[in-house]
Amino acid sequence: IVTVRGVEKRYGNLQVLKGIDLDVYKGEVIVVVGSSGSGKTTFIRCINHLEKIQGGRIEVNGRLIGYRESKRGLVEDTESNIARQRCEIGMVFQLFHLFPHLTALENIIEAPIHVRKISRDDAIETARVLLARVGLKEKENSYPSQLSGGQQQRVAIARALAMRPSIMLFDEPTSALDPEMIGEVLDVMKELAREGMTMIVVSHEMGFAREVANRVIMMHEGRIIEDAPPETFFTAPKHERTAAFLSRVI
Ligand code: ATP
Repeated sequence: IVTVRGVEKRYGNLQVLKGIDLDVYKGEVIVVVGSSGSGKTTFIRCINHLEKIQGGRIEVNGRLIGYRESKRGLVEDTESNIARQRCEIGMVFQLFHLFPHLTALENIIEAPIHVRKISRDDAIETARVLLARVGLKEKENSYPSQLSGGQQQRVAIARALAMRPSIMLFDEPTSALDPEMIGEVLDVMKELAREGMTMIVVSHEMGFAREVANRVIMMHEGRIIEDAPPETFFTAPKHERTAAFLSRVI
């Protein structure tokens, strides 16, 4: 469902991604780990073209992301094509990014109505189902400021799901939360995984990685240095840097 080939990303002189190759298959849950600054966040932001790339290519569902072929090579795609591609790719951020002036329900129906052109009634019906699914049926009229961090993050997940994405990207979804709220967000993510959603999750939650991931990926200085099922990753990593990382975090 996702094909990443030779992806390179630079900020000025700083090369953050140095040739990333990755295949993600339908229904897989990939957890991306690595020390701070290794490029994890940058990498998943490239997958829905929140960051431009300077080399390589990314395809989702067989379609090139962010660029189109031309005689001069790849050129950046039009805004409307990029917006259409993003409908298929749900994204959940570390800091929720809900619209503060909209209620939970309004946050969820906004994009389906304006981007997907779904009728307001249908969008509301779907939003209520999604709110129930993330355990927030009673909160549809609450504003983000009236919700806890864990509740806001669950609304953010429901909002991403409302676009019916074929893949969900999570960028450290629990790292801004108080410890007692981490579990409720991870539970929603585990349920999604059980239902077969394809997910790429940047996370420091090793318990989640062990329990839910099909593969765990270790990034180091802009490269993937380890890609293994959790059983192997946590007990017999190939790369000494992975072993060193694990000894620091577990
Ligand atoms: P963390 O776990 O701390 O979030 P990370 O592995 O997700 O780390 P990135 O956020 O992808 O790392 O950052 C990789 C590198 O790119 C870092 O050195 C960072 O300072 C740099 N970087 C990230 N975003 C920008 C930007 N917009 N402009 C310039 N440099 C950036």
